[in-house]
Amino acid sequence: MKIGILSRNPKLYSTQRLMDAASKRGHEVHVVDFLRCYMDITSKNPQMFYKGEPLQGFDAVIPRIGASVTFYGAAVVRQFEMMGVFSVNESVAITRSRDKLRCLQLLARRGVGLPTTGFAHETTDVQELIRKVGGAPVVIKLLEGTQGIGVVLAETVTAAESVIEAFMGLKADILVQEYISEAQGSDIRCFVINGKVIAAMRRRARAGGFRSNLHRGGSAELVKITAEERATAAKAARVIGLNVCGVDLLRSRRGPLVIEVNSSPGLEGIEGATGKDVASLIVEFAERKTVETASTRTRGTG
Ligand code: ADP
Repeated sequence: MKIGILSRNPKLYSTQRLMDAASKRGHEVHVVDFLRCYMDITSKNPQMFYKGEPLQGFDAVIPRIGASVTFYGAAVVRQFEMMGVFSVNESVAITRSRDKLRCLQLLARRGVGLPTTGFAHETTDVQELIRKVGGAPVVIKLLEGTQGIGVVLAETVTAAESVIEAFMGLKADILVQEYISEAQGSDIRCFVINGKVIAAMRRRARAGGFRSNLHRGGSAELVKITAEERATAAKAARVIGLNVCGVDLLRSRRGPLVIEVNSSPGLEGIEGATGKDVASLIVEFAERKTVETASTRTRGTG
């Protein structure tokens, strides 16, 4: 197969691992910097161009779209879909997962456990908003934040009010969330492929912190998850519509609570903590689905 890895940086661990895994399995693999792709969106024969040449003959793409470039990245993935190329994650699911608020609303509607979360536009009723999520301490999150940046723990109502007012004053959209103290600064990253958790790790915040993101100095270790945690992560992936994703859970007194579904989960932490060859599992999934999709298409037109 000819596989494209849509990534801005061929040197990244995840990109490298996917490249290695795909070539080891006998595929022709190309890293495509999606920001340098341009496309003819109107033609009956949709095309994509890259560095002056048409991109042709791809069977599958593996999108690794960073949060800051979601809009253009998702447009490139969509164009590949129009060209009949299988994408490991659909563009619409990538876009859905990047909107934290939309994600939580969809998960809530389908009964997936979540920390109690509030969202408001005006500063007029900040105290009521804090009360609604159970009072201080609360976690305040910038909707546009990633990798733990813009996630603040406010231990008192006064601190929460100040932070909320400051963010709102800057016209930033925020979520106000119940603080899950039982999680004790750790979360569980479940790596889901095709509706199944294939690897899981516990991430712990560094001493004195509460955000367990590896980018914020957290550490990772192998963890055995419960059947309920497994089912919750699989369901969250299904609701958002992602074939390959990282679902982050907090262990709470009332069971697993989802805090995030990530459509481009890093491979370094999870492969390091679990010893699993996650990259090969992703490529294998792409192989299987590409064949399935092609045979359905042939049957459909025959
Ligand atoms: P980001 O998308 O920026 O990674 P998250 O919502 O995943 O933001 O939060 C970052 C980290 O902060 C999480 O990995 C978790 O350790 C901690 N955290 C987030 N929300 C809560 C919460 N409601 N209660 C306790 N800890 C939380």
